[in-house]
Amino acid sequence: MTTIEDANYALSKILDAGSKKNVIELAWIKNVRVIIPRAIVTLSLPSFANSQRERIVNDVRKTLLDFEDINDVQIELDNKLSQSESSSERNVPDLKNVKGVKHIIAVSSGKGGVGKSTIAVNIACSLAKLGLKTGLLDADIYGPNTPSMLGVSEENPKVTDSGGNEQRLIPINKYGISLVSMGFLIEEGQPVIWRGPMLNSIIRQFLYQVEWNNLDFLVIDLPPGTGDAQISLAQSVPISGAIVVTTPQQVSLQDSRRGLAMFRQLGVPLLGIVENMSVFIPPDMPNKKYEIFGKGGGKILAEENNLQLLAQIPIEIPLVDESNKGIPISLSQPNKESSMKFKKLAQLIKNKFVN
Ligand code: ADP
Repeated sequence: MTTIEDANYALSKILDAGSKKNVIELAWIKNVRVIIPRAIVTLSLPSFANSQRERIVNDVRKTLLDFEDINDVQIELDNKLSQSESSSERNVPDLKNVKGVKHIIAVSSGKGGVGKSTIAVNIACSLAKLGLKTGLLDADIYGPNTPSMLGVSEENPKVTDSGGNEQRLIPINKYGISLVSMGFLIEEGQPVIWRGPMLNSIIRQFLYQVEWNNLDFLVIDLPPGTGDAQISLAQSVPISGAIVVTTPQQVSLQDSRRGLAMFRQLGVPLLGIVENMSVFIPPDMPNKKYEIFGKGGGKILAEENNLQLLAQIPIEIPLVDESNKGIPISLSQPNKESSMKFKKLAQLIKNKFVN
């Protein structure tokens, strides 16, 4: 005869698509009771997992009905859900708005080298081209390369005249974008080792002690991974939407999943997935596309998390060349496929947040 332990064990095979933890461990399914031929369980999903509700309910039913002696599954809703959704249980601390910034878009990736900074820079340029006041905060403390992508690596930001008040950093202006980067503060080529508390304070300074000037959007280029910087940031400011950049390779999905799960745990709204390096377009044969890094990564990640695949950016030589010259492709070659995709992506962000 099926026992509660049997039922719990079988249900523990059902996973949260983001964190890959099982629904029993997460207490999303609890109070499992078995009164043959009936099984009764309580469903207690946090709001960020609502998109998985239908799948989880179906899986629970199917799993329990697979036992020969169970033919009726009753799923109750946890009526204490609203209490368990309190901000303290969701690890969401009080968030403090950044003066002079309307919307924050965070661009992140599970690991380095997937083109996160390239995407962040081109989103910022494309938003600016739509006439929106845009800032770019390069918080990638381990590899701050946006100043060179925008051709301003030689510049030094000034600080405001204090006049008795707290001094504030004045962003560098280029191509209509207000830029602040760690790259301005550290010597090029020098290794940087930031420890937790130092990292927290530098990120907060970057957010709150900068003279942001009435920005519609501040795009933040986060460091890769799921470390202190991301957590510190997500716990400091109200992020309007996070974008996770991934590549088509399915081997890198695990890192991206971890990144998504982190945002979910921190209660950060997810805007969607951008797949970079989707296909290679040879410059001399613009009608050809080669899937040199495999395919499907972005689509799988989007589908399993019920998110939108916002864009698939091809590999194009000018993306590297122009970037090395300090002019992002979306400005230097607006008719290239990647530039048009960045424009569409910026339009999508604008439509979502600006009336
Ligand atoms: P990350 O911020 O994830 O470490 P970067 O944006 O610095 O990655 O990109 C890593 C390298 O790949 C850079 O040299 C960049 O010019 C190049 N790159 C990124 N995306 C593309 C693309 N779609 N096509 C061609 N080169 C790209």
